[in-house]
Amino acid sequence: MNREPPGPPGHTYADPTVLALLDGPGRPGRDVPRARQVFVNRTLRMDRIEAVGFDMDYTLALYRLGPVEGLAFSLTRDRMVERLGYPEAVRAMRYDPDFVIRGLVMDKQTGNLFKMDRHNHVGRCFHGTRPLPADEIRRLYREEKIRLSSPRFAWLDTLFSLPEACLFAGVVDVLAEAGRPATWEKLYDDIRSTIDTVHADGSLKALVRADLAHFVIRDPELGPALHKLRSGGKRLFLLTNSAWDYTDAVMRHVLDGVLPEYPSWRNYFDFAVTAARKPGFFSEKRPIEALGPDGAVLGEAQVLERNVLYQGGSLSELERLAGFGGERVLYVGDHIYGDILRSRRDSLWRTCMVVEELERELAWLEGKVPALEELARLEDLRARLGDELSTRRSALNVAERRLERGNPGPEERARLEEERRRAKAELELLRRAHRDADARIATLGEIVEGGFNRFWGLTFKEGHENSRFGEQIEDYACVYTSRVSNLAFYSPMEYFRSARVLMPHERAGLALAPFGDEHAVPRAAARPSKAPKP
Ligand code: IMP
Ligand code: MG
Repeated sequence: MNREPPGPPGHTYADPTVLALLDGPGRPGRDVPRARQVFVNRTLRMDRIEAVGFDMDYTLALYRLGPVEGLAFSLTRDRMVERLGYPEAVRAMRYDPDFVIRGLVMDKQTGNLFKMDRHNHVGRCFHGTRPLPADEIRRLYREEKIRLSSPRFAWLDTLFSLPEACLFAGVVDVLAEAGRPATWEKLYDDIRSTIDTVHADGSLKALVRADLAHFVIRDPELGPALHKLRSGGKRLFLLTNSAWDYTDAVMRHVLDGVLPEYPSWRNYFDFAVTAARKPGFFSEKRPIEALGPDGAVLGEAQVLERNVLYQGGSLSELERLAGFGGERVLYVGDHIYGDILRSRRDSLWRTCMVVEELERELAWLEGKVPALEELARLEDLRARLGDELSTRRSALNVAERRLERGNPGPEERARLEEERRRAKAELELLRRAHRDADARIATLGEIVEGGFNRFWGLTFKEGHENSRFGEQIEDYACVYTSRVSNLAFYSPMEYFRSARVLMPHERAGLALAPFGDEHAVPRAAARPSKAPKP
């Protein structure tokens, strides 16, 4: 016999036939592995997107994390010894990919490297490669508000800046050991200007180009993902800061010949703008120049064509020549400041951030589900123990006051004394349980965070808060994902819906939902989630 669908009559939403349809093959993106999903901060309706623009480096062209940063590190390191007179000991330093992650901050005044949570609280901190004790962190960073916009700090907002942070910490060690008086500002400036020339004079790029397969991933799913977007009627374009010749070499490696219908990477894109000078691209006004096959400037572009490469330009010029713009454009990039934050501030373009680190971190967390569940339960338990301790402490105070000042009769006194004795014993038990829960939470935290990265823990978390980096992704990227080819899992018309954002008072209601302990939302999860900034 058919069961009546629940809900008021006339509503079909819970009809078994309707529910069965939801299990059919029609829903794209349904079985996407977690590490390959697109995560949504602000609702994005792909049916309203007319054009999708892509950054190149670390976006369409994913560098293998490690080798390219290692190369930039060693070129910069050697140049600092050879050209700026840094000690020979610097030459022995090696790039350690675990020691630097995106989102860290270099403090040019103290020579420290630290990680912040979403409230700009400094968490883990190193002077050179030596961990700084908690009281030193408090002394340095808790007594005044930290303004990252100050020239004192440099924030690692792109994977390109990891080598300079590793070098900064290493040279701080070397100079401190040699007892060399140093101003860390000068060290920072030396590293910055040296790595800048390593990028700009072509020495890094020449080595990468000589062995592209070693440095750049050729993702076989990228071509099909772009093809799917094109088949859905989107216009695709490339907008990169890299110069035309490097762009051409890298894009050939990444896309040429992946699909027979697209023999050249150029076939995927309606046009390609190189040397775009983002973030200035989004706010300044510059012409777009057309380039000849040898890179010679042919003149100011009047139209944007598939078989010509362009350089320079600005947002307004691109929109004028392309004939599309505003919120009908989705821009996909990896640089939180240059690609995402600035395009968000200076244009109406929607944004998708490519966060390469997600895949490794999600894979790790998936393997740690039992520890995470235990952690959530324990955090809930610890909060309840804390509440109980406060309640009982005040009950004990009342009993003690009555004993001292109430002048009770002998029977009442005996009862109150018994009550006090019991309350004290229970308090002690609760205190011990609280301490034990604390210790176990610390151990589990170390397993989950320290096991992932012994220096910095998780990229997107600092303690139980979001890291500042994680928070910036939430604030500025409409959606984010680990790589562009993940879009192949979704329809070009996908309705990426953001989850309903709950305020703390709404979450508190959820935490009391009568599902029984194992299903209840643990209190630890009842933290506020911030709505992305408009
Ligand atoms: P995009 O990510 O495709 O927009 O381009 C990044 C480009 O910026 C690459 O060509 C990098 O070599 C270049 N780049 C990254 N960091 C620096 C730097 O510090 N100085 C100069 N160029 C840089
Ligand atoms: Mg990039």
